[in-house]
Amino acid sequence: MKEFRLFCLLAVTLIARPAGAQQSVDALVDREIPQLVSTYKMLHAAPELSHYEEKTSAFFAAQLKSLGYAVTERVGKFDRPQFSGYGVVAVLKNGVGPTVLLRTDLDALPVEEKNDVPYASKVKTKTESGQEVSVMHACGHDVHITSMIGTAKILAALKDQWRGTLVIIGQPAEETVDGARAMLADGLYTRFPKPDFTLGLHDSADVEAGKITYTPGYAMASSTSVDVIIRGLGGHGSKPEATKDPIVVASQTILALQTIVSRENSPLDPAVVTIGSIHGGTKRNIIPDEVVLQLTIRTYKEEVRQHILASIERIAKGIAAAAGFPEDRAPIVRVIESENAPSLYNDPQLTERMAAAIAKAIGSENVIKAPPLMASEDFGHFSLDHQIPSCYFWLGAIEPSRVEASRKSGKPLPSLHSSLFQPLPEPTLRNGVRAMTAAVLELMKK
Ligand SMILES: [Zn+2]
Ligand SMILES: [Zn+2]
Repeated sequence: MKEFRLFCLLAVTLIARPAGAQQSVDALVDREIPQLVSTYKMLHAAPELSHYEEKTSAFFAAQLKSLGYAVTERVGKFDRPQFSGYGVVAVLKNGVGPTVLLRTDLDALPVEEKNDVPYASKVKTKTESGQEVSVMHACGHDVHITSMIGTAKILAALKDQWRGTLVIIGQPAEETVDGARAMLADGLYTRFPKPDFTLGLHDSADVEAGKITYTPGYAMASSTSVDVIIRGLGGHGSKPEATKDPIVVASQTILALQTIVSRENSPLDPAVVTIGSIHGGTKRNIIPDEVVLQLTIRTYKEEVRQHILASIERIAKGIAAAAGFPEDRAPIVRVIESENAPSLYNDPQLTERMAAAIAKAIGSENVIKAPPLMASEDFGHFSLDHQIPSCYFWLGAIEPSRVEASRKSGKPLPSLHSSLFQPLPEPTLRNGVRAMTAAVLELMKK
């Protein structure tokens, strides 16, 4: 009888344990929320542009230091030496177990905030070219920083529930997609523990606060910046026979490039070729020497990206040749490596596991599978070409009644990067901390 009672007690304890652990996470989050909301508002009012995240990174570093993490600042080596690397790497070692990397980005955008909230940004600064711009956390990276601080705090307090090495990084220059590469180039995986898993989150401008969405497999596209320089032979507008007109060839090239996705690519492999800028000429009666096209290519698969790049070159050169341009004036196709982002691939097994753990913490009705996007970000670099299993999920951030009204009216909500993007601090931050903590505990639990 005694043994039976003991057995019952043990069984109840074992069954109750996950709920108890979740309760302790929730109690800690409850305790931290007021402080996290004020941290968020402070960060929101003090945004910094990509490559200039000096104060934001110092604040993030100080927070993690005070929690007992071993913190290294100024991690990041950019291709352009004029930029300082404001990356932060914070390591918390807690026995033998997996190494898990969590990433937040740190930077804001040159956008003038139009939200009527007391903590709206009024920051103005000068860009590298001397242009005065307003600055706003219009992509919500302040939500990510604050969620990460909350997660770091709770995991430090719950060290008895997990084991392994936690690496939390603050990445600069996400919006310019060169920050992840800069941190890796500065020894992120040689000077610091190399992760077995990488996790990240991003706020969503069209999902309700309180919900999480996730996409197993390809979740975001790679983005490749390409310049096509069409070099003609300029001259007087009255003497076309003495020139090779790059404006006409540029026009034909633009139309012909539309056939890459529509005629050369499998419809089952998403791809976009966008020509976002065309510049050439100064005056109506001058045939210019040159026209420059600026393109972005987006794909999920690397082989599709390579095929599109080769096609752009073949088409541009073929059209110039057909127009009689000499070979030494053939178009130049140039990939701007520093602006490229890889596709973001969520390891399907890991992502389903993370989604299940998050569902346990916040309720399965709040965790929703979502379709992939053709937008890009540089988080994919940390997976080293999909070698390290990664999971990146979306954190709903919008007042639910606004999402509902938008669904009913069909009027879209302000998107990320909009001057009117307005995350709802509570419960977005609460949910970000609960979801990320649940994901980490699932991977590192004792
Ligand atoms: Zn952004
Ligand atoms: Zn962003």
